[in-house]
Amino acid sequence: MNSEYYGILEVNKGATASEIKKAYRKLALKYHPDRNENDKGAEEKFKQVNEAYQVLGDKEKRGIYDKYGKKGLDSQGFQGYSDMNMDDLGSIFESIFGGAFNSGFGGAGGGRQKKRKYPLDSAIELELDFKDAVNGCKKDIKYTFKEPCNECDGTGAEDGHIDKCSECQGKGQVFYKQGFMTFSQTCPKCHGEGTSAVRKCKSCVGKGFVEDLNSTTVDIPAGIDNGNRMRVSGKGNVDEYGRSGDLYIEISIKEDDVFVRHDDDIYIEVPILFTQAALGADVIIPTLTGEMTLSLKTGTMDKQQFIFKKEGITNVHTKEKGNLVAQVKITFPKTLNSLQRELLEKLNISFGKQNTHTDNIGEKIGKIKDWFK
Ligand SMILES: [Zn+2]
Ligand SMILES: [Zn+2]
Repeated sequence: MNSEYYGILEVNKGATASEIKKAYRKLALKYHPDRNENDKGAEEKFKQVNEAYQVLGDKEKRGIYDKYGKKGLDSQGFQGYSDMNMDDLGSIFESIFGGAFNSGFGGAGGGRQKKRKYPLDSAIELELDFKDAVNGCKKDIKYTFKEPCNECDGTGAEDGHIDKCSECQGKGQVFYKQGFMTFSQTCPKCHGEGTSAVRKCKSCVGKGFVEDLNSTTVDIPAGIDNGNRMRVSGKGNVDEYGRSGDLYIEISIKEDDVFVRHDDDIYIEVPILFTQAALGADVIIPTLTGEMTLSLKTGTMDKQQFIFKKEGITNVHTKEKGNLVAQVKITFPKTLNSLQRELLEKLNISFGKQNTHTDNIGEKIGKIKDWFK
């Protein structure tokens, strides 16, 4: 009966609140994603442990669960945490233990939860040349990252001298009355921290953090596409415990003059003269790796497409290659010299078309006139 959560936390049903918290702390630490990178089993365990603790760590929810099980919680709008991503769970974990996974959860109780002034992960944009995206490349990138200000120890206050916020008297919340109701909101002066600097730190202008410039080299895999995101582990912002977040690189790719990309396929337009289309011809076309010959047969059509299998782009995930699609564009000369005109007229006559204009047009105009009757 309703013992699943107790089983997950490995405590018995009569466990005290502090025993439950202790058990959670131990298991969450064991399965924490920072210690079990890319371990799906550990990730699942971590989720379960969190879900169990969200219930058993809360007196009211635990009471409902003991009596009515998960169903009882569902009817209270409790959703469970299995659909949450790991970042959300990490924040829950930190909100319970006051942050600082690496610090081993320091002093008992953790004290007041400290609000981080900036997210640990950061992002930059990177624009690549078409060829670099197709072939892959190494790129030196410059990026900025935030870290706590040394001068004020991340407090934003000169000499680290902070005082209770004068606006909310250190509560982090301000209260106001409307009629007989009292409402509260996060203090606008200290943003809920409850403290404020006596004087602002000059070095960080009271922000508590500074931005530094750094650079690194990243390996861009062949086939990377517009909108892809790359993660560079440990190059994000740094917190007061020296932990680094990740740097995300958002990729965009410049257009190419010759090739048009569509997913892993590459399109090129091949302009040929109408005589080549009529006679057939071997045409040299550019490919991603060099060039090759497109053999056109007699009577090639305008916009006709020729597919070269696996001459396209290497898919960045599957490593399979797309196709190269060459599309013919038939062109006509704007002017003719006298020899060309003579030859074309002879050709025209050879097709028996010398009187085409007078033969057919009259009839066609008659038809068009019928449309407007
Ligand atoms: Zn400072
Ligand atoms: Zn305040």
